Amino acid sequence: MELYDVTIIGGGPAGMYAAFYSGMRDMKTKLIEAREELGGRLLIYPEKMIWDVGGFAPVRCDRLIGQLAEQAKVFEPTLVFGQQIKGLTRREDGTYLLTAETGETHWTRTIILALGRGILKLEKLEIEGAERYESANLHYTVQELEPFRGKRVLLSGGGNSAVDWANELEAIAASVTVVHRRDRFGGHENNVARMKSSSVQVRTPYAVTRLHSGDGQSIESVTISHIESGEAERIEVDAVIVNHGLKSDFSGIAEWGLEMDDWNVYTGGKLETNMPGIYAAGDFASFPSKVNLIAGAFTDAALAVNSAKLYLEPEAHYMAYVSSHNERFAEKNRALGVVEDEGPQAQ
Ligand SMILES: Cc1cc2nc3c(=O)[nH]c(=O)nc-3n(C[C@H](O)[C@H](O)[C@H](O)COP(=O)(O)OP(=O)(O)OC[C@H]3O[C@@H](n4cnc5c(N)ncnc54)[C@H](O)[C@@H]3O)c2cc1C
Repeated sequence: MELYDVTIIGGGPAGMYAAFYSGMRDMKTKLIEAREELGGRLLIYPEKMIWDVGGFAPVRCDRLIGQLAEQAKVFEPTLVFGQQIKGLTRREDGTYLLTAETGETHWTRTIILALGRGILKLEKLEIEGAERYESANLHYTVQELEPFRGKRVLLSGGGNSAVDWANELEAIAASVTVVHRRDRFGGHENNVARMKSSSVQVRTPYAVTRLHSGDGQSIESVTISHIESGEAERIEVDAVIVNHGLKSDFSGIAEWGLEMDDWNVYTGGKLETNMPGIYAAGDFASFPSKVNLIAGAFTDAALAVNSAKLYLEPEAHYMAYVSSHNERFAEKNRALGVVEDEGPQAQ
């Protein structure tokens, strides 16, 4: 088993940027992601436009994932997919052994936890047998709008993304019905107001209680029931989208001895946790000035990598030399066809 200087757990924006930056710091780097691809939570909203990442105004989310993944690979870190890390053992020499749910182990001198909200699992519809329609017209995520064109869509849920999807689908679907168990919606006020003033039919406080199918393969109609009175109503549908949110799983890691709450690990300003050689970055990290943004994840990642570097080499500089004047990029720039000035740089 090979020993790595740093092992990053999580392949979202924080983990991807950490993989790049630790290459800038000459550290032997491994990134482990539970899914089969890089992207983290950005994979939930690939078609959305993002306006608040510095330097990209705006950028479609899937393009940002591509750019981040390309950058993460610049220094050729080892990438491991499909492994959820759970176990941790500290050896006598201070190095760590990480164990994945699948049984594989990884040996490392430092760890960066870029776990985001942990392993996210979609909250499913609690109706027996509902899973049989998942390959037909019961959806838990919306990857593309086009398949819903001209369809009668019933959307169950009342959070931000449910409201968001209702508004987007309204423009192309034959009809959109939103069913929510509370009268109040969790979405942003403007979006809720837009939904309510559009052709979207809003049914509250109702819940989906039965799915009906003629052929046993796809849903043809849905029974919704009033939460208090139980009064039921049947609605014909072509597609059902369930947007009941996500539940998170930090199982294993929550038992390592980290100071953490249900969602975050507490860190100091250098992204250090209470455990030696273990750092955090991105949404998983919590400190007083934390911003839960993609842009914030980048700064966290650089700080966490610098802390890991100084843990391993206390005499090292506190940060990597900036990329514009860093010799490490000279050859890469030449490969890009960039001709650089030899002499002193102008202001
Ligand atoms: C609908 C939506 C819209 C958003 N829009 C914006 C926006 O416009 N602008 C903006 O700045 N931010 C936005 N955000 C927030 C942004 O997505 C997050 O701040 C960002 O993804 C956090 O990055 P991260 O790397 O910390 O975590 P994540 O992106 O959550 O990545 C964490 C990764 O860690 C992996 N992981 C977790 N536990 C383990 C384990 N034990 N072993 C292995 N892998 C593990 C997960 O599978 C995941 O891939 C939005 C979020 C949502 C949900």
